[in-house]
Amino acid sequence: MATDTLLRGTPVVPGVAFAPALVVRAEVSPEAVARFDTSQYADAEAALAAYDQAAQAVADGFLRKAAGVSGDAAKVLTASAGLARDKGLRGAVSKHLRGGDDLLASVHAGVEQFVTVFTGMGGLMAERVTDLRDIERRITAHLVGEPEPGVGAPEAPCVLVAEDLAPSDTAGLDPAVVLALVTERGGPTSHTAIIARQLAIPCVVGVGGATALANGTPLLVDGAAGTVETDAADAEARVAADAEQRAALAAWEGPGRTADGVPVKILANVADAESARRAASAPVQGVGLFRTELCFLNRKEEPSAEEQASIYGGVLDAFHGGGRYVVVRTLDAGSDKPVGFATHDGEENPALGVRGLRLSFDNPGLMDRQLDAIAAAAAATGTETWVMAPMVATVAEAHEFAGKVHARGLKAGVMVEVPSAALLAHRMLEAVDFLSIGTNDLTQYTMAADRMATDLAHLTDPWQPAVLQLIAITAEAGRQARKPVGVCGEAAADPLLACVLVGMGITSLSMAAAAVRPVGARLAGVPLDLCEEAAEAALAASDPGAGRTAVRELLG
Ligand code: PEP
Ligand code: MG
Repeated sequence: MATDTLLRGTPVVPGVAFAPALVVRAEVSPEAVARFDTSQYADAEAALAAYDQAAQAVADGFLRKAAGVSGDAAKVLTASAGLARDKGLRGAVSKHLRGGDDLLASVHAGVEQFVTVFTGMGGLMAERVTDLRDIERRITAHLVGEPEPGVGAPEAPCVLVAEDLAPSDTAGLDPAVVLALVTERGGPTSHTAIIARQLAIPCVVGVGGATALANGTPLLVDGAAGTVETDAADAEARVAADAEQRAALAAWEGPGRTADGVPVKILANVADAESARRAASAPVQGVGLFRTELCFLNRKEEPSAEEQASIYGGVLDAFHGGGRYVVVRTLDAGSDKPVGFATHDGEENPALGVRGLRLSFDNPGLMDRQLDAIAAAAAATGTETWVMAPMVATVAEAHEFAGKVHARGLKAGVMVEVPSAALLAHRMLEAVDFLSIGTNDLTQYTMAADRMATDLAHLTDPWQPAVLQLIAITAEAGRQARKPVGVCGEAAADPLLACVLVGMGITSLSMAAAAVRPVGARLAGVPLDLCEEAAEAALAASDPGAGRTAVRELLG
């Protein structure tokens, strides 16, 4: 195979998909603008008609996206649709056309006129300047015949190819239309990876040169091999073989246990009521990680405790009864998940800054109000509710947090994401009822490697023996204290690594619903003593590759 037909990246979500590329760009390409032929319009009226068509297409795109989401996100998108069709904006464009400007220049001048007016008005109107510039880019894209910049609302089946995807880009993506994700940046624990797992679509990240692919190029994405092929002759056969394999895994129905019957709770990671309802239909015993900050990515003002309680209640409701429970994580705002009302702006090094539990240092009310809302939702739904804090670094933080949670009658835990928390896990467990290991951040902080850095993907690998050593220390502390220690980072979604974790003494594995059956089915085939052998082999390995090979040989 010629090298230019095969791109390689980091495999993230297994599965094979075949569809045309939809390359997401942040800007309209300058080449397309330069090629634009303004003489195609006979007069200003014809040019204005083309503007109307483009503006309507942009508005329709926003409305389609709005229909797929709810709450504030839907309101913002509907307002953007209105702005794209704004009569005043159309009038300004028309005036410039009649004055002799060409169409693209007229759109730009009309938008700039509005930018000046909105900026002068200040406040909320000034904040809409970003939306105006976004609308200009989208209208321009339609006029020059390119797809709209940003993710938009794809209609036909596609492989989404982007430099990177922010959590807000991926809100409302439809897995029936977006069949796979390919990004140039990001590692196995990036948010693109997390979203792909949630959507259960194949995903490869860190694919150099992916955005240089032409739109519409048929792509065969293999999420297990980490490859993207542009000229695969056997594409359909490979998609069919993959579907067959998935169907076999889909037969696993839980509950989680090893081949010799040792119980291991298999739990789901969720982001909102909708993903919780989807997860509740998978064979899981509850939720091991409800990422509450993902409910508020678009919010500038802190939602009231009542509104928060109703949002959390939507998730808790889906897991009422049947011995199931939900672990709610308090806001992990900051770093790669900025939340308008919580995050500190302008930090030099936000991953090491004020994020997670640290936001309560100078704003204790933020956490108190959230805990009140969680307790209210737990009382209203009657669902067993555990609460944990992210980014805990000291035993004193664990004691203070546990005090607040216990005062509200709920079980308290902390996440083990900072190496200091793993090293002192036995003392953390004197304060809390459970621990949950966030392997994404634990890997980032142990290896001093940004989880988003493509060039460091070999370091941000949870199979790194140093990371596994910290997990083993934490699991052993749980065994001694007879308290549950789970894993809720992406490591839990890797069927091979899941067996290693269980061999170390991990008592629950929490993952995107799509990973539940592959992990549950794998674990069901391996007895505990073999899991323990696998743990020893992975810990003794010199690097992640050697660890994977050794464990694969052991487990078959
Ligand atoms: C983690 O760090 O492993 C984790 C589960 O938290 P997040 O990915 O949301 O930072
Ligand atoms: Mg984390």
